[in-house]
Amino acid sequence: MLSQYHIEIMLASLGGRFSPRAMSVITHANINQDRIAGQFGHDEYHFDNNAFDKSYAYIEEQRAFAISSLRSGNADAAWQAFGRLLHTAQDFYAHSNYITLWLSRFDPSTGLGHAAPPPPPEVDPMDPSLIHSPDLRSGKVYYPFELLYFVRQLRPLALRILPRDSHAWMNLDSPAQGFKFDYAIQAAVKRTVIEFEITTQGFSEEMRRLFLDGQAGG
Ligand SMILES: [Zn+2]
Repeated sequence: MLSQYHIEIMLASLGGRFSPRAMSVITHANINQDRIAGQFGHDEYHFDNNAFDKSYAYIEEQRAFAISSLRSGNADAAWQAFGRLLHTAQDFYAHSNYITLWLSRFDPSTGLGHAAPPPPPEVDPMDPSLIHSPDLRSGKVYYPFELLYFVRQLRPLALRILPRDSHAWMNLDSPAQGFKFDYAIQAAVKRTVIEFEITTQGFSEEMRRLFLDGQAGG
């Protein structure tokens, strides 16, 4: 997902819960996962290449790090780890076929009796039967041809060369991918709130104060 959409998701989901300073550190750590060094050999940052188990493990590892950092009074390290895990959680909806599977339930041709899918804000981001579906896939990154996709003029060429299970064909990284992008954004917003709740559920009052950096809400 492009950085501007990660930022939009952060503001829509967590804006107001944290101090501006905390929000800035969390958001920076989130979008920094898409730096060049974070793109190669780090499928677990982005749910690429069907690295589902590795990506879930990465989220939990960063969550544990955020919590232990907070226990030792290091809010800055906690915010950074939280930003990193949110990046991965948000990319799930842009890089897997979760949204496609969810929408296919409303496809009249499947005979389930629905004419149109509900609007994007009604997407369920955590349907267990889809999260554990044998049909769940994420885009494979085929180097070097995948790189052509990132040059706008070469995109048609990339799509001609790359197979349908590639990141180039499967991604919902921007509105250019069509109507499914709105569902990916809304699912990522809801998932971000869920990750916030999971992360903070066992917090003492002191940890909560430190994490939110003095904000009363959350
Ligand atoms: Zn990413």
